Amino acid sequence: MPTFIKSAIPGLSTRTAVVLQFVLVAGLATLAFLPRANEEPQIASSSVPEAPESQPTAPPQEASLGFSTIDVVVMRNDTMDRLFRRLELNLADLAMLRNLPDLRSQVDKLKPGELLRFKYRDGELMGLERKLSDSETLQVIRDENGFSTNVLENPLEVHTRTASATINSSLFQASAEAGLSDRVAFDLAEIFQYDIDFVLDIQAGDRFTVVYEEVFQDGEPLRIGNILAAKFVNAGREYRAVRYVDSQGRGQYYSPDGKSLRKAFMRSPVQFSRVSSRFNLSRKHPVLNRIRAHKGVDYAAPTGTPVRAAGEGRVRFVGRQGGYGNVIELEHGSGVVTVYGHLSRFAPKLRRGQRVELAQVVGYVGSTGLATGPHLHYEYRVRGVHKNPQTVPLPDAEPIPSAERERFLTATADLVNTLDLPLGPILVAR
Ligand SMILES: [Zn+2]
Repeated sequence: MPTFIKSAIPGLSTRTAVVLQFVLVAGLATLAFLPRANEEPQIASSSVPEAPESQPTAPPQEASLGFSTIDVVVMRNDTMDRLFRRLELNLADLAMLRNLPDLRSQVDKLKPGELLRFKYRDGELMGLERKLSDSETLQVIRDENGFSTNVLENPLEVHTRTASATINSSLFQASAEAGLSDRVAFDLAEIFQYDIDFVLDIQAGDRFTVVYEEVFQDGEPLRIGNILAAKFVNAGREYRAVRYVDSQGRGQYYSPDGKSLRKAFMRSPVQFSRVSSRFNLSRKHPVLNRIRAHKGVDYAAPTGTPVRAAGEGRVRFVGRQGGYGNVIELEHGSGVVTVYGHLSRFAPKLRRGQRVELAQVVGYVGSTGLATGPHLHYEYRVRGVHKNPQTVPLPDAEPIPSAERERFLTATADLVNTLDLPLGPILVAR
């Protein structure tokens, strides 16, 4: 049973949490939630003789004292008040908790999906535990003066692991065979997404090496941390990435020589859409019914689908313009301008001159202007010349700034070397 509870806790992140409304462990003297067995006797100290200090391993059996322990997953709209009523706990105890210094905000700000552990007896709250982070738990304990609080620390250990694999059928199959979780495979695909299309480009014989963090607690794996470095060989071409946390604390992936692995632009400003009309300089216009160049790409998507800024930039125009209908023009530097037409509406308060971030929502798909149905008309112009948005080479994101270059090279040298170790089944770095 303790192992069941322990495994239930990391899994409670967000997905399964809502389904699992109550994990009832009433009457169990389990310490799985808080692995520090020696904290436990405090709860029982008022009613049983104190366990000798020299015996930290055997806490008194709560069950025999009539304690119940219940783990509650906080649902949307849950308040502590509601939880107390649901568990039929004494509301006077809640009032007492609220009066504890620093606890009021803890009591009143519950997050859906989080786990609380209540200990009670005959409707009286005996203890309450709340995880503050992976390594910290707030513990409230009933004592002779009412309640007292403390924060238990349970430090994390981070191990670095290196693994290599060759792909026979898919990235996920190869990852699984190398003992890697799907999480690592997803992260790997995300790091190289600007260079490799993991749906279309992967072929048998592709291979990769990945250096990543595994986070442990109490000697047990807790979760996967960051990928620190990776190498991917696709169709004989090698791509390498190292993670670097810059002086502002931002972690990003770069090639070993300091180029960003991201692009400064997204290829398509609407997600989950399909191209309904390509860039074509001799197209017959569907509304005007005569030859008129189509100097952009149309993405068919339902009215209201968010349209994102293809790159960081500044609003050059926002308003109505003939056949374009509601249109936005963004200026990105180096003479690049992107245009978003037929919008149903603009992002609230979007105005000329405003700065926008890469992928910021600027408007919504519509069919204003000369449009047969809801779609985004998207143009990419370089110094006034229309380019095909589907094929135009996209500029890279900013490389490592020269002021940080030395620091970057020093910080990543060992990781880059690890990538060049000979490929084997699994290598444990340390
Ligand atoms: Zn169009």
